[in-house]
Amino acid sequence: MQLLNIEMGQMKALHFLGEKKIELIDLPTPEIRSDEVLIEIQAAGLCGSDLHLFYTPSRSEKEAGIFGLKFPPDNIPGHEPCGKIVEVGSNVKHLKIGDRVAVAHISGCGNCSICRKGWDMHCAQKRTYGGDIQGAFAEFMPARAKDCVLLPENISYLDGAFYTCGASTGYYSLKRANLLGGETILCVGLGPVGLAGAFFASMLGAKVIGVDLSQDRCDHSLKFGVEVAINASTENVQERIMEITKGEGCNVAIDYTGAPAGRITAIEAAGLWGRVVLIGFGKGYTNIETELHIIEKQLTVVGAWVFSFPELQDLVAFSSNRGIDLSQFISTKSTIENGAKLFADFDKGSTGKTFITRRG
Ligand SMILES: [Zn+2]
Ligand SMILES: [Zn+2]
Repeated sequence: MQLLNIEMGQMKALHFLGEKKIELIDLPTPEIRSDEVLIEIQAAGLCGSDLHLFYTPSRSEKEAGIFGLKFPPDNIPGHEPCGKIVEVGSNVKHLKIGDRVAVAHISGCGNCSICRKGWDMHCAQKRTYGGDIQGAFAEFMPARAKDCVLLPENISYLDGAFYTCGASTGYYSLKRANLLGGETILCVGLGPVGLAGAFFASMLGAKVIGVDLSQDRCDHSLKFGVEVAINASTENVQERIMEITKGEGCNVAIDYTGAPAGRITAIEAAGLWGRVVLIGFGKGYTNIETELHIIEKQLTVVGAWVFSFPELQDLVAFSSNRGIDLSQFISTKSTIENGAKLFADFDKGSTGKTFITRRG
């Protein structure tokens, strides 16, 4: 086992007590197994699902399970890990100390037919970094070597962290919709994932319309390829969309919010033969007029959940080749000592992406 000359022993980590309380704790630096590497976390992204699964719910809600997902309530969250390898297990052949890697946050068994297609997230034996195994809100994180994506030199740690969840989820939603250049797409919800979807849609040549309840998020989105941003709290969304599309509706509409109102907005905005992708997680049933909004418009409505390992690799390669820089998405970054404050601000719905970084 190789070990870089770093001070090992204790590390800092964030412990989520529930009901929006976080404490900074000291834990022993994790030991790795032969098929794992130890990563010194350089950037860890905050994600909406951290709020839903770990930050907001009480301990008893976590124990009962949320969205059908049940994780140990005391596990260290953080499923957008990116950093530098500082230790390599004895069976790891393709990675070395000093390599810069991002970690795909869902880790399947690696052997079943689903894993062999790269869809680890649907493996019956999957584990999730920051879910049921240790995540990235700590100074060090062990990871199976097979889950690591090597970062090209021109991809920063922050961008790498964003690719492991939010950015790739946004990108995959477009692939699920078979979006073509020249089409009109509506992105409902302009938080980090929706904004990433809008950004990559504009890079693919689509005309992008955005909707959000926050004027700040609407204004902010105009810098990311959104051509028209509609504030759903003050404007009539469907009237505006029909005006912009000359009565035809959108070719593609994607709901990133998970709120029933957001899903309905997407389904109503899609035109004849439109494709709708539902990607946001939320509570409650969605009531739609099926005949009017789906059958008579011949819609294709599909679900999309996260992305596969090959898609993460592809997006990192695409971004490196095209020199895509996601730094304009970043609104806030700070060290792990300020984790509680970062989460409190993120919970208020800040406009950009928030990261915990090693150097602040
Ligand atoms: Zn996430
Ligand atoms: Zn498997």
